[in-house]
Amino acid sequence: MTPTEQLILLIEDEPGIRRFLRVTLSSNGYRIGEAACGEDGLKHAASDRPDLVVLDLGLPDRDGMEVLKELREWSSVPVIVLTARDVEKAKVEALDAGADDYLTKPFGADELLARIRVALRHALRATAPQDPIFTTGDLKVDLAARVVTVSGEEVHLTPIEFRLLATLVKHAGKVLTHRQLLNAGWGPEYGFEAHYLRVYMAQLRRKLEADTANPRYLRTEPGVGYRLAVEG
Ligand code: CA
Repeated sequence: MTPTEQLILLIEDEPGIRRFLRVTLSSNGYRIGEAACGEDGLKHAASDRPDLVVLDLGLPDRDGMEVLKELREWSSVPVIVLTARDVEKAKVEALDAGADDYLTKPFGADELLARIRVALRHALRATAPQDPIFTTGDLKVDLAARVVTVSGEEVHLTPIEFRLLATLVKHAGKVLTHRQLLNAGWGPEYGFEAHYLRVYMAQLRRKLEADTANPRYLRTEPGVGYRLAVEG
């Protein structure tokens, strides 16, 4: 599918932000639908079948979180939520409720377009068989053979380290919350032991990163979780 066919639904009450989104996205070949409140947004999501939804969490009529949860009852459309600055709790809540990613206001056009490309790519991939070999920069992860190499050198990971890395690879470019990663690494009964995760992510960085203080691949999203950065 080419970007020109893809419809993005904007659910946002602030006209200035809606205008910025409309101009940026339409000049990059996307079709745009708009709603200024949650109720209208849900109606459009049902009738127009957008390829992606950009949802503001602060809406005049309904809480954006409620809109997200209602949408998730019947749709798996990728959702990127817009949040005010420094509300980590709301970001985590939205991601755990099924949002694909978030953008913190104010955000730039490049960041917006990059997040949208990643979310659309993941939505497409969900319906197609995934290539078991993932490569970015010098890092190569063969999910089927469970072999990880950096610059061609094999890196030995513990089972938990591998599960964490494999989960990040499967969602490459997207942020994963502490809870999502803890569930992947240790099981569904884990969710609040963020310190386990810190220890294991530090170990993974020591094994995969040339400079652990400035990680190239395993990025921290403060207060929220981690993201495997995708290059190129
Ligand atoms: Ca708003």
